[in-house]
This record gives sequence, structure tokens and C-alpha cells, in this order.
Amino acid sequence: MQLPQQLLDSLTGVAGFNKEAFVQIHESGEQVTSVRVNAAKAAKNGSSLTIDHLPLVQSAKIPWSSYGYYLPERPAFIFDPLIHAGAYYVQEASSMFLEQALTQTTDVSQPLRVLDLCAAPGGKSTLLQSLISADSLLVSNEVIKSRAAILEENSIKWGGANVIVTNADPATFARLENFFDVIVIDAPCSGSGLFRREPEAIGEWSEQNVALCYQRQQRILADVFPALKEGGVLIYSTCSYSKEEDEQIADWLMDTFSVQPLQLAVEADWGIVETRSNKHQAFGYRFFPDKVRGEGFFISCFRKQEGGANTIRPPKKSLLQKASKNETAIIQPWLQAGWPVQLWKQKEEIMAFPQHLEKELLTIVDNIYVRRAGTVLGKIAGNDLVPDHALALSTGINPSIVAVSLKKEDAIQYLRKEEVSVSTAHKGWTLVQFEQYNLGWIKVLQNRINNYYPPTWRILKRSANSTNESS
Ligand code: SAM
Repeated sequence: MQLPQQLLDSLTGVAGFNKEAFVQIHESGEQVTSVRVNAAKAAKNGSSLTIDHLPLVQSAKIPWSSYGYYLPERPAFIFDPLIHAGAYYVQEASSMFLEQALTQTTDVSQPLRVLDLCAAPGGKSTLLQSLISADSLLVSNEVIKSRAAILEENSIKWGGANVIVTNADPATFARLENFFDVIVIDAPCSGSGLFRREPEAIGEWSEQNVALCYQRQQRILADVFPALKEGGVLIYSTCSYSKEEDEQIADWLMDTFSVQPLQLAVEADWGIVETRSNKHQAFGYRFFPDKVRGEGFFISCFRKQEGGANTIRPPKKSLLQKASKNETAIIQPWLQAGWPVQLWKQKEEIMAFPQHLEKELLTIVDNIYVRRAGTVLGKIAGNDLVPDHALALSTGINPSIVAVSLKKEDAIQYLRKEEVSVSTAHKGWTLVQFEQYNLGWIKVLQNRINNYYPPTWRILKRSANSTNESS
């Protein structure tokens, strides 16, 4: 692996950079595989943070993460039904440090409004879903439409109702002045931190691209900054080693806005390097793969010290209406008793959203292009519900809905959207499960079974070598 000489030269003098060790670890061929478990689903299934067929042992825990584990080798994730059930997410270990950045700067026991601005494919967003309380709001945004679809899929799989997936340019969020308590910007960057995992990216690296990324990062930050409330926390991260995209962005932020840099507590044996920016001494945290078991990563946190009150009011009229009493009565048996959600209707679809986030929901829908809000439950047809796939994957589904459990080969067949045979006396809508995790719906008719797995999500691969891995 030939690392760009200009990159190596540019890192001379950067705190924690050891050229020999850095080159050696890139040439070693070592690959680190890690996953993060969906605690909300694991708890619901009565288990602790374990997945029967993955070796998630205490000794393999990622030290800065409550839910992350290293795996001794890389399984063919795509052929594990539980990844499609949202039981876990394949995520790069360094990125999971976002947990420390959030929990050390913000009281996550309080209801929060959190924006993940550059969110696809959803690694940080699914982590944020696990960290914030059920009465907090997460807006997961992705500007590129095709990537927003993947973000939506991963968000649905994670199963929370308090998420709105948007597909908007960062500048649009300036409409929500002083609205968010936390904004996470996992910025598009030159990507040198992932060279070990994706050697093909080395050829695309250039100093010009670093300069372009630096400018784009400034634009994104300036566009979204008004949406952060006074006292709110900005979490900025990249997977680039370049100073321009890391410490220099921190200095630019402090030159441009009134923000206070925040220091994080890091255990010495984690191998994470604390850096200070040249001009303002802002704190940054660097992850070098020769020092941590993870890929290259940088993160820095700031508290906003300017801004007035949030004066945005939800609109008087909305595209959303509350579901009627009759519609609510039809849907109620499908939901877990006591799930504190309001049911909403848009066109034919009924969706669930946390009751006390009504104002937030209406405000976002009024101002930003929303791909999906809350958990879509389905459509009403006559006196019945036609359940949506998102309901099957939701943590709010009634646990006593009739389900059939499949063996692994049959579960894969189901996820390919092929014919499945099950023996059940029950007719009608039935959940399909693997190891107690819901995979989706089938409809059992008199003489056949219909497979309702979403066509665009189905497994197409016939052999291994594919992942959903994300940073
Ligand atoms: N946070 C994601 C995760 O953990 O799975 C990874 C985000 S990736 C590093 C950066 C994202 O920024 C990409 O999804 C990319 O499409 C998006 N992006 C690209 N250009 C952008 C822009 N000008 N404004 C906002 N986002 C942009």
C-alpha cells in the first residue's frame, strides 16, 4: 500500500503522528471489524447485549462505547438475518467515540432536539438513536437523494419512533433558528482515515481535494450554525488526517462564531490523542490506527455562546392530521400497550410519533423536506390495517402479534423475497422472525403465502463479500 507522500509530509509535526508506525500499520494488512448492538431491541427480546451467533464477549468490548464490540473475524454480514432486523449495525470502532462526545457535553437524560446533518448511511444516527431518550427528537438529514434512501432504510431498521429523516441542503436548516440542542456534523472529507479499509481511495486523494473539502466544510458549518441554540453543542468530525479539515476548521469556527471549545475526558489506555488547534487551542481528538483499534478519525466539540430565543412556532395548518378515533381503534391492537405516541395521518398512511414532540414534528414538516417522520404503521383498508414493514421493525409493536420463527436458510429466502413455506394454522398477517427478532410480514392465505419484504431491500447477492459497513 503506497500512501501519498504529500499526505505523509503534511502530517509531520501533527500531535500523535508517528510516520514509521503509521506506514507499518497501513502495510500490515490488518483489518478491524466491529459492530454495535441495538440495545432497545436486545432489551425487548429479554436478552442482554448478546447475539447468539456473534462472539460478543466482554473482553472484545470497544472501551469508549456502551454497545460496540470487536469481532475476531469478518463474517458475511449480508447473510446474517439479524443485520436486516436491525439487531446490530456494522460500524467502524473510532466513530463510536461520538458516544463520549455527546454524553460528556450534554445531559442525555433531558429531552433534546438533535440534528445529524450529514447522516447517510446512518452509523452516527443509529448510535444517536440509542443514546438519546425516547422523548428526544433526532432529525437525520442527508443531502444526496440516493443516500437518503439508505439512511431511511437503516433508520427504520433501528426501530425508534422519534426520528425524522430529511433530505435537504444544510442551508435549509437556517430556517430553524436557535432550534437544536445538539448538531452533529460528520463532514464529507478527503477520506484518508479510511485508507486501510479502502486502499482504492488512495488514488483519489490529492492536496487540491483537501483544500476543496476544507472550503465545503466551512460552508456546511456556516449554513447550519444558526439552527443551533445558544448553549447548544456542535460536534464536528471527519475521517481525514489533514490538519486543514480538522484543527484548522476548529480555528476557523472560533474565528467566525462565538463558540467555546470543549474538552473531553479520555482514558490513557484508549490510545486517543488529544490535540490543540494552533490559533485558539481548541480541543480535538485524533484516532491513529497504529494507536487505537480503529480507523483514522477526528472529532471536536464546541458550545455555542450566541443566539437568542427560539421563536419558531408550528404552523396553524399542516399536511399532517391526527388519526381519527376509528382509525386509532383499528390500529391500537397492533401496538404495545402504553406506547406514548400520537397517531398521525398523511394521505393514506398512518404513522406514530412521540406524543410530546407534536410541536417539533409540525415545525420540521413545515420547514424541511421530510422523507419519513416517525414509524409508519400502515394504511387503513376498510376496518383493517395493512401493516407497513416499519411496524414489523418498530420497538413499539405489540409483542403478542402472531409470529413464525424461521431457520437461517429460510430467513435468507424470505429476505430475498422468495417463496417461503411455514406451518401455521393462523391466517392473515403474520410476523416472520429469526432468533426472536422481527424480519417483516407475510400474509398467510388459504393456499399460499405472500412475502411482503420490501422489494428494494431484498438480498440480491448470491455469495459473500458484501457489507453495510459505515463510519
Ligand atoms: N454520518 C454518516 C455515518 O456515520 O454513517 C457518514 C457521513 S459521510 C462522512 C458524509 C456525508 O455528507 C455523506 O453522506 C455525503 O453524501 C454528505 N454530503 C456530501 N456533500 C455534502 C454537502 N455539501 N452538505 C452536506 N452533506 C454533504
